[in-house]
Amino acid sequence: MIQLYIPLNFLGVIYREIKQSLADMERLFSLLEQNKDVADAPDAKPLTTNGAALRFSHIDFSYESKRQILFDVDFEVAAGTTTAVVGHSGSGKSTLSRLLYRFYDIDAGAITIDGQDLRNVTQASLRKAIGIVPQDTVLFNDTIGYNIGYGKPGSSKEEIVAAAKAAYVHDFIESLPDGYETTVGERGLKLSGGEKQRVAIARTLLKNPAVLIFDEATSALDSKAEQAIQEQLSEIAESRTTLIIAHRLSTIVDAHQILVLEHGRIIERGTHTQLLAADGAYAQMWARQQAREDDDGEEDGAGAGA
Ligand code: ADP
Ligand code: MG
Repeated sequence: MIQLYIPLNFLGVIYREIKQSLADMERLFSLLEQNKDVADAPDAKPLTTNGAALRFSHIDFSYESKRQILFDVDFEVAAGTTTAVVGHSGSGKSTLSRLLYRFYDIDAGAITIDGQDLRNVTQASLRKAIGIVPQDTVLFNDTIGYNIGYGKPGSSKEEIVAAAKAAYVHDFIESLPDGYETTVGERGLKLSGGEKQRVAIARTLLKNPAVLIFDEATSALDSKAEQAIQEQLSEIAESRTTLIIAHRLSTIVDAHQILVLEHGRIIERGTHTQLLAADGAYAQMWARQQAREDDDGEEDGAGAGA
């Protein structure tokens, strides 16, 4: 009995270790894959933020040498403000967030956070400073508590619960059979798109980054769920430097600055009101989306008459 017990217990430990390292490998691979060309400079320093003002200075970028993706992209996000990026699929919006995270280095220009060139800071410190709520959140095959706590290594149960409460996902978690110990992911409980987004938001809240990126974070949701989450996102974004890559324009009308990207160039910029008055590409996109929402018969859409 004892001989049997020990190996099994031992296996249990190994299994936990393997599971842990698989989660880490997944993270590692996703970084390595996108990260072949990027290395810390020998004299790289940790990024220090004070408000986290972003500056993209005349950026050119291509993934492959033959095809340029971004052309002379130039903008600032003042500390604590929100900039939204809109534009057709393939125009280069997500590329901007990948460059800020330094998955790739740029071909020309510079990107700085509080005046520090991304190429001169350590990647670890850079990634600690940036929280991304992606379009499609990947959950680890682990407990929902682990999936939130992952935002901040070593976080306590209390911190995880506080983050879950702030992301309005605590009550949902408590209703699960094993609460925070419920296994989720491919081999566990499947969460809906909205639930996964809330887990991602809780994770990001726990991380408490200086810079937030939402990459079409709510585009997979129906408009009711999107609206609810959008309200949470604006709460989180308040007084934090935020880059929103927007799908539905109705979600970004309050942004301090909106950039319209087309084929890798900024073709318009301004506030929602300014861009409507300019009656250009943004105004056209806005009119098209409003018409579509009317067709969908949404009670909270354009019918209210903005
Ligand atoms: P958006 O987010 O605006 O839809 P992306 O920034 O994802 O657009 O992509 C911009 C362009 O870059 C697209 O033409 C896309 O096909 C191309 N692209 C994106 N990722 C890669 C990659 N890893 N390698 C080569 N081309 C890429
Ligand atoms: Mg994209």
